[in-house]
Order: sequence, then C-alpha cells, then structure tokens
Amino acid sequence: MANWLLEGGRVVDPATGRDGRFDLLVVDGKIAEVRAVGGAGGRGANGAKRRKPPAGVTVIDVSGLIVVPGLVDMHVHLRDPGMEHKETIDTGTRAAAAGGFTTLACMPNTDPKNDGLAVTEYIVAEARRRGVVNVVPIGCVSKGSRGEELAEIGDMVRAGAVAVSDDGAPVSTAFLMRMALEYTRFFDIPVIDHCEDRSLSASGVMNEGPVSTALGLKGIPRASESVAVARDLALAEMTGGRLHLAHLSTRASLEEVRRARARGVRVTCEATPHHLILTDKAVAESSYDPNTKMNPPLRAEDDRDALVEGLRDGTIDAIATDHAPHHDDEKLVEFDDAPFGIVGLETAVPLVYDRLVRSGQITLTRFVEVLALNPARILGLAKGTLAEGADADITVIDPARVRTVDPKRFQSRSRNTPFGGWKLRGWPVLTMVGGKIAHDADASPRR
Ligand SMILES: [Zn+2]
Repeated sequence: MANWLLEGGRVVDPATGRDGRFDLLVVDGKIAEVRAVGGAGGRGANGAKRRKPPAGVTVIDVSGLIVVPGLVDMHVHLRDPGMEHKETIDTGTRAAAAGGFTTLACMPNTDPKNDGLAVTEYIVAEARRRGVVNVVPIGCVSKGSRGEELAEIGDMVRAGAVAVSDDGAPVSTAFLMRMALEYTRFFDIPVIDHCEDRSLSASGVMNEGPVSTALGLKGIPRASESVAVARDLALAEMTGGRLHLAHLSTRASLEEVRRARARGVRVTCEATPHHLILTDKAVAESSYDPNTKMNPPLRAEDDRDALVEGLRDGTIDAIATDHAPHHDDEKLVEFDDAPFGIVGLETAVPLVYDRLVRSGQITLTRFVEVLALNPARILGLAKGTLAEGADADITVIDPARVRTVDPKRFQSRSRNTPFGGWKLRGWPVLTMVGGKIAHDADASPRR
C-alpha cells in the first residue's frame, strides 16, 4: 500500500481541535503523524524546518488547500439492488468519491427492500467488491417497509446495519415507531424517520403557500412534517430510544427539536443542501422543472432562514444529501407526474462551501462538524477525524477552484439536479479512503 505525505495544507479537524497548517503522514491506510508546519503561524518558516519524508512515502503538495476528515453522508439512495438503471453501488460510490465523501449510509428502499440479512449482506459484500468509498447499510424499520411488523433488525445489525429507517416513507404508525425506538435501544442505533403525515401531504407536489397557489400546483403543508416530528419526539421521550429526524425543512420542526432537547430527549437531525439553499420560488423560476420537486418540498424563505440558523446554533447536527437518483425518462415528465428527489453527492461540497461558508453563514469548523464528525458519531462510526491512528479517510478541498456544475460529467448514473449551470467556488479535489486515492480531480481527463 502506498504511503503519503500531504504537505502544507490547512487542516481543519474539530475532533482534535486542530485548525492550521499541518503535514499529514499516511502509513498503511492510517493517519500516522500530524505535524505542525513551521511553528506558530506556519508561513515563512515553511520548508526550512521540514524533514525529509521517510523512504517509500509519496509527497502530495496540498499547500493552499483545505484538508478535512473524509466526509460522511448519512442519507443516500444507492438504488442497488433492483433499480440499477438509476444508480449502482459502483456508480454511487464513485459519485461519492468525486464529491468528497468517503463514507455513505444507504437507505433500505431498494428492490427488494433491505429488511433482513440477505440484502444487508449483499450490500456489504458488493460495497467491498466494487465500492470506492465505505458503505454502511441502513435497514428497514418494518418488513417490506409496509409499516405492519418490525423487520429483522437484530440480524441486520449483526451483518453491519448502523441504523433503521422506512425512508421514502414515514414509519407508518405511532405504535410501530414506539416498538422500533424500544427495540433499537438494545443495539444503541438510531431510528431515522422521514417525517410526513400522509393524510396532510396527500397528493401534494410542492410547498403549500402563495407560490403553489400562483402556479396552480397542489401543496404539501408544513404541518405534514411538524405533526410527525411532534409524534416522534413524544415517543422518543417515552421510550428513551435514539431518534434521528431526516431532512427537516421547516422552522416549526426545528422549534420542536429545540424544546425536546431541552427536556433531555435523545434526538438528532439533518438538513439537505437544497433545503438550506433553495426555496419554493425555484419551482416558479425554473418554470416547473421536475428537478425542483422533492419530498419534503423546498419551503419558503422563512423556513430556509430557520434552517441556516439551526445549522449555526447546533440544532441541526448534520448535512445529508438525500441523494435520490432517477433516470431522465422518469424524471423529465410533467411536474405533477415526476418522482420526488434529486442527486446530491457531487454538488454538496461546492454548494455548502460557496453558499454557506464563503458567505460567512457558517465556519469551516462547523462545515466539518456537520459533514463529517457529527454524522459519524450519530451512526457510531470511528470516522470524521484526522487524529493519529484514525483511518486515512481524507478530503482535500480547493477553496479557490471555480467550476460550473455540469450534470453530464457526473459519475452518478443519474443527472437529476436543479443546480446544473451553477458557478460555484470551492470544490473537492482529492478524496482518499483508507489511504487509497478514490478520486483525484486533476488526474481525470477534464477538470
Ligand atoms: Zn425521506
């Protein structure tokens, strides 16, 4: 295995409190040494005091670049098994590597659903065979995600599942949610819920409000989310189970989370880049582009502001992409008929970096917390840090690189993004997984 010295980059690693210029020595797939460059301040003394790299070590000059723990996306739909025309473990993990993610957790709404040993074992084995990043499966809460009886949770956990969810759909009844929160306490894993009361969202296709009225589209009210959030929080409080709320989209949901936390409820939550950056106006401005249709829907400016505030103040623990690939033939139809969801793995870093870090809304430290450290902690993974001894999962970002999002160049098998044509600054340029280069933007034919 190749050994590396990543020299002269700005290392940001909240788990160890490091933020400054450090050299990273990678030996046998682990972080072997983290060495400050040129003492306090770094620049100037740079080079003079540098020791020669040990024999057999390849030096990579990362000066001017940002070096962070490999990013962890805790909400990805890999579509494998069963919907390989949308994505596979092969193409999905390549997309992850290209986007700077070194670990992803995949949702169980495949075909067949991941509700037992067989599919969990398939995903783990296939990821080992073909995956270029780490893949951890999420199992179903209920058999077939039908919401009737619990899935084979113990079997799936023993085979590598790190959480359970019926995502794509909410956990259907309060009774089943109670059972899941109680049962998963034995394994100390979170129950991840897609919060939606389907009697309220019904056949809605976008946020319910002035924009949906103007466009003549059926709305999904904010309450369809916050009603379900309130239910889940009450059950987490009653059972003492660990609850994780997926892709929150409204101000009211965050207020519920804050209140529950103050009472000691064990709850974490995530938001997506698109809910943090876009609003329902995107549906109008794009003239009904089906790539602005997702569930939960893009909300109003006030909700988006609340999400950014929640990201800043710690209410939101993680940014997750909800990467949801769909084939053009399925997605590029009338808005009403299109499936929900967009791809996210290859745009998350530049979107969050450009729109939230560069604009001063969150710090680089917070960026690493929500995209690496916290999702790793929520899923119980020994990831999200560049501490000595940790796996050499490393993401290098070029804060000066400007590129336009070109869906035709995605590694993903699907191109359903509303961000095509966006010019963004701050792109991942090198992704290392366990000391192996999983993606090198400058080694590929086009940059
Ligand atoms: Zn969902």
